[in-house]
Amino acid sequence: MSESSKDKIVLFDNGNHKVVLLEDHGSGAAVQANQFVIVHGDQGMILDPGGHKIYNKVFSDTHHTLGGAKLRYIFLSHQDPDIVAATNGWLMTTDAEAYASELWMRFIPHFGLDHLVTERLRPIADGGMVMDLAGCGLLVLPAHFLHSCGNFHLYDPVSKILFTGDLGASVGIDYREVSDFAAHMPAMEGFHRRYMASNAALKLWANMVRQLDIEIIAPQHGALFRGPEMVKRLIDWLDGLECGIDRMAGVYTIPSS
Ligand code: FE
Repeated sequence: MSESSKDKIVLFDNGNHKVVLLEDHGSGAAVQANQFVIVHGDQGMILDPGGHKIYNKVFSDTHHTLGGAKLRYIFLSHQDPDIVAATNGWLMTTDAEAYASELWMRFIPHFGLDHLVTERLRPIADGGMVMDLAGCGLLVLPAHFLHSCGNFHLYDPVSKILFTGDLGASVGIDYREVSDFAAHMPAMEGFHRRYMASNAALKLWANMVRQLDIEIIAPQHGALFRGPEMVKRLIDWLDGLECGIDRMAGVYTIPSS
């Protein structure tokens, strides 16, 4: 098995539609991150491709995964550096269009966008959109304030995978899928309580995604949630989670030293 193929995990493949996880290209101080590639017919898309340190590896793995398909889209769930920092490289070396919240259109160029590619960075309005990948309609769902104020998730109706960016993310674990939700919760709890903006946003999100038929919830960091029972456990846990501003009253005090 070659170096470039050993950590590509096929999550779904029906012959015409494929979803692949490029796992754990992070190293050192950088947080571990999952990259996902969706291929439908002759077109492909990468989700949250990551920053400069992993660019070469993710780029070659993506092209290996695409086979003969063409990279059509780069989906950026929000503006964090582990997601958007290498956007210029992706746009300069492909003909793809990158999509991110309209809130970040004037900020992402600060990572260095060449003027030749700026018009291929496209805005997503607050209500989300449907992205047409070679005839497959992928749903871009609002997930604002979870954690970024301009934040989207992506639902693939063919594989029934919901890609949730930082929501459902876990750190410090060495398994790829959650098998024991209660045991897994500590790996998510601190991050969600501090980074997610409020329970109000989580409740709106939970009400929206309960209308979808979800087989896997795939966050950008840590383990996946597979199967209706594990998906339900995660949505229910998030629905009831106090976080962000809900817990900040005591922090807004004048420091004494
Ligand atoms: Fe983030």
